Amino acid sequence: MRLEAVTSRQRETRIDLRKSKLVVVKTVVNVVYNTAEQNVSANQIKSQIAALNKDYRARNADRSQTPTPWTGLITDARVQFKLVKVTRTRTTHAGFSFDDTVKKASTGGIAPFQPRTHLNLWLCALTGGLLGYAQFPGGPVNTDGVVINYQAFGTTGTAKAPYNKGRTATHEVGHYLNLRHIWGDTPDCSGSDLVADTPNSAGPNYGAPRWPVVTCNNGPNGDMFMNYMDYTDDAAMYMFTAQQVLRMRTALETARAGLI
Ligand SMILES: [Zn+2]
Repeated sequence: MRLEAVTSRQRETRIDLRKSKLVVVKTVVNVVYNTAEQNVSANQIKSQIAALNKDYRARNADRSQTPTPWTGLITDARVQFKLVKVTRTRTTHAGFSFDDTVKKASTGGIAPFQPRTHLNLWLCALTGGLLGYAQFPGGPVNTDGVVINYQAFGTTGTAKAPYNKGRTATHEVGHYLNLRHIWGDTPDCSGSDLVADTPNSAGPNYGAPRWPVVTCNNGPNGDMFMNYMDYTDDAAMYMFTAQQVLRMRTALETARAGLI
């Protein structure tokens, strides 16, 4: 609740995001593997960090596909990720779910490394078609971070189309920095992502939709399905908005201040 109050206050003061400080987030990748294939290469890990750094600096080339009415909303978050540590843990578990077992040694995983000051990414096999999941700000420290399926991580190696542009991490780190799904997680038009410059939309979009997709009377432009916080394919999502960046920056200055 406190975070919401601070966010709306910053929205009112209209801070100039272009002048905000460049933040470097120390990042740890915890590889938890059952098969040799899941023990992904250093190169693949590097490809994921590179993808995050493009997306969070709005330097991804595909942002040029953003529909004209929204090009002015594309915003550089001025957040960079610096890989400082890789851990590799062999597990007997064939697959993990979103129950955080990958985050504890006693359940076949590994504990996060200094999660108050480091973003921890776990890389493992996830069951049930799960691409990844994240912990929002304010949760327990010993499970803090983001978990990514090894088949949806980075842009090379085991990364599998249509999830091979590193956007699962871009999306999940968005949650980690307090962003919600753009449809507000309700099966109708009642939910909100608490972000003013993303149109209200009915539910998730999948695949690579053709623009516009009108729901919730949000025509003529419709859903912003090319936003990183939708469920579209990696190649079909390529932007954060100014108000989303404001939310993330506010999280970094409050609940996640330890990172900076
Ligand atoms: Zn999500």
